[in-house]
Amino acid sequence: MGIIKKHIQEQNNFKMDTFKATMIAEGDFTMAGVDCPTEELIIEAYQFLVNTGIVWELQGSFGRTASDLIEQGLIMLKCPTCEEYRYIKNKGCTDTICVEHNINEK
Ligand SMILES: [Zn+2]
Repeated sequence: MGIIKKHIQEQNNFKMDTFKATMIAEGDFTMAGVDCPTEELIIEAYQFLVNTGIVWELQGSFGRTASDLIEQGLIMLKCPTCEEYRYIKNKGCTDTICVEHNINEK
């Protein structure tokens, strides 16, 4: 997924920001300046809105979609240990150093 995302960004010189992420989440891809939206881009937009905390201030439907994506492990949460957005619900942190840290803590 990372490679695809990078490819999209390089191709369109696309940089996610609050406005674009909100437009993508709303499904208004033209306003976001996106020619061909992908599932990866939509997830990236939601990840951005979760990272910034904005998603919880938007309409309830956005928060519910974000919650669904978090439940599915498609959006990562802030890890309580390393404080990076690498934490997958019910799976834990995707950072190997962090995982070792957690194991050592227990
Ligand atoms: Zn971590």
